[in-house]
Amino acid sequence: MPDRPHPELDLTQKASLVSGASTWSSRGIDGVVPALTLSDGPHGLRRQPTGGDNLGIGTSVPAVCFPPAVGLAATWNAELVERVGKQIGREARALGVQVVLGPGMNIKRSPLGGRNFEYFSEDPRVTGALAAAMVRGIQSMQVAAAPKHFAVNNQENDRMRVSATVSARALREIYLTAFEQVVRDAGPWALMSAYNRVNGEFASESRRLLTGILREEWSFDGLVVSDWGAVYDHVAAVSAGLDLEMPPSGNTPRVVEAVQSGDLDESVLDVAIDRLRTLAERTAGLPAVERDIDAAQAVALDAAREAVTLLENDGTLPLDPVRRMLVVGEFACTPRFQGGGSSRVVPTRTVSALDALRQLSGSPVEFVPGFTLNGDPAADLADEAVTAAAGAEVVLLFLGLSDRAESEGFDRTSFDLPAPQLELLARLKTVGTPIVVVLSNGSTVELSSWRNGVSAIVEGWLLGQEGGRAIAEILLGLTEPSGRLTETIPHRIADTPSFLNFPGRDGEVLYGEDVFVGYRSYDSVGTDVAYPFGHGLTYTTFEYEDLRVVPTGDNVWEARVTVRNTGGRPGAEVVQLYVAAGSGTVVRPVHELRGFTKVFLAAGEHVEVVFEVGARDLSYWNARDERWRIEPGEYSIEVGASSRDIRLSATVHSSGDGVVLPLQLDSTLEEWAAHPLGADIVARMRAGIPAEVAASAPELAAMVLSTPVIKLATWGLGITEEMVRGVVAQSGGDA
Ligand code: BGC
Repeated sequence: MPDRPHPELDLTQKASLVSGASTWSSRGIDGVVPALTLSDGPHGLRRQPTGGDNLGIGTSVPAVCFPPAVGLAATWNAELVERVGKQIGREARALGVQVVLGPGMNIKRSPLGGRNFEYFSEDPRVTGALAAAMVRGIQSMQVAAAPKHFAVNNQENDRMRVSATVSARALREIYLTAFEQVVRDAGPWALMSAYNRVNGEFASESRRLLTGILREEWSFDGLVVSDWGAVYDHVAAVSAGLDLEMPPSGNTPRVVEAVQSGDLDESVLDVAIDRLRTLAERTAGLPAVERDIDAAQAVALDAAREAVTLLENDGTLPLDPVRRMLVVGEFACTPRFQGGGSSRVVPTRTVSALDALRQLSGSPVEFVPGFTLNGDPAADLADEAVTAAAGAEVVLLFLGLSDRAESEGFDRTSFDLPAPQLELLARLKTVGTPIVVVLSNGSTVELSSWRNGVSAIVEGWLLGQEGGRAIAEILLGLTEPSGRLTETIPHRIADTPSFLNFPGRDGEVLYGEDVFVGYRSYDSVGTDVAYPFGHGLTYTTFEYEDLRVVPTGDNVWEARVTVRNTGGRPGAEVVQLYVAAGSGTVVRPVHELRGFTKVFLAAGEHVEVVFEVGARDLSYWNARDERWRIEPGEYSIEVGASSRDIRLSATVHSSGDGVVLPLQLDSTLEEWAAHPLGADIVARMRAGIPAEVAASAPELAAMVLSTPVIKLATWGLGITEEMVRGVVAQSGGDA
């Protein structure tokens, strides 16, 4: 029951409060709860003072555009992401926004996901850690964050209807883990429910998700707001635990009727109103802040610098001393720095890589566009580029995806860069001038077919408004590259684990790859990939020494490793810790990321990195027992520079979680044998097998191991159904 049952409100007023007042505002009632302003989006504010839309069509107040999540993730730097969050929180406060609709934190199940640029990773721990940092940053300014889209919203195709058919184990281990981490570690004051269905039920109407898991298991104490237009049956949504429908859809009379007819308990509305009030209290009371655009732009630049990911380099980079450069590719001049849709920010300015190269190199830099951004054929532009390349010492070729290719609202239909760009590259290669490719894309692209013959590949993702400068600094060696992949780049789209099941059809998408998303599949199956999860080059080298793993508690270990910069330049290493469950009976990914730390080291410097490995890091979700379980056995603790570059490992032994679950009537002989109360029945059964049969057919034991003991009781093996029921009852099971 709520603390404050709101006697001051009549039923219609109560029902009106659980829907918004307009596109960007909740409803306020004087003396009860103030109206709250909500605004996109994850990588900068899209504050629309009048009117508004959730598709990123209308304009908004200029705000600093930080790198979208794809770029922030590539930094692997939680402290930096928190700084970004803080600046977004500050912009929000200054512009009168109480709730920032982000971070976006769905898992990248396929490179083709239309909103991958708004999401962090194929891995839940990277996603969870960075989203938590973002939430902490935003909320440090007393502005609420609303992580989204809860849950299993991993595609744009059919997003308002599709049902994700996903196993309980994949749900927990992959799709809910990051949300759990953000709720437990950062305590967001709001959370956005998704458009889609999960196993047939709309996420925004799922009691299991919105109340059972989110509130009862994870102790979420904030406000659940729907995605814009996600509510079909408002009464079902409110009863499931959805507090605020956005934007309003005229459902108030239906909610009133439901209470009057007894279909909806009025106390559910009181609870939602309390949550609105709590949110208002949490975001109220601070003095107004001024915008600090310079400070925000500086943080946007820092984030862009750390996001740039060097995939390949034969030594051509850094361009130091500066050589005669030819810049080719419209993206150098017209940067693509964010994706399309609701997250689109009107930037305070943009910095192009071309301008930054000219300014920072202090030399004239020739530029030819090479192709058109809309993909129209332009042979003359390509001819011009090829002619100019012959006179250059190095060609910096800016390739990428256009807004037309990736955006909210639709998935990509191709993994490839546009054909005219690839044709241009092929022609430039024939000239013989070294080529450095710089990419602008919000999700991974195919590069195995064209990377041979290219001197360096700089993955520039979408870097926010300051990205051009970050790229120029890294090309020129003024900043060290330090980004790493948070998603594997496969050779072919057909290699991706979800390939045959993305994006589904007829309103359903089967998550057939189960927990084997991204590197969890590639590394387990041994699929050759273009660049593995965690990969990224620097201008220096690192060595790993002296891994020590010591137990510090029950199923808790401390892992220490020394990392040394062995090259001639400063640089940053992202030290990754994976756990490999080697000896259990459950099929598990060959290893899974459980921790990471980014360290910055001067040439020759070293540092000791410390990780804690705990029970959850060893666990898998047991769907039958509906809980995290640890199998007894050996576990390998691995540290390295990518999922395919493990430098050191150590083995630890776990005696399991010690959880003894009750026996049930369908428990198998194997489960009885492992249960403390099972010994007597198992011994009786053994004794019931004639000695000559046991001796002549040793495989008998193996044959019956998976048979429920209650069945064996009917085979006359010296045990009876009553005996079995008796022990099941004694163990606490359902006899
Ligand atoms: C998007 C959300 C966004 C909302 C409001 C929806 O279309 O899915 O991410 O926050 O619109 O613009």
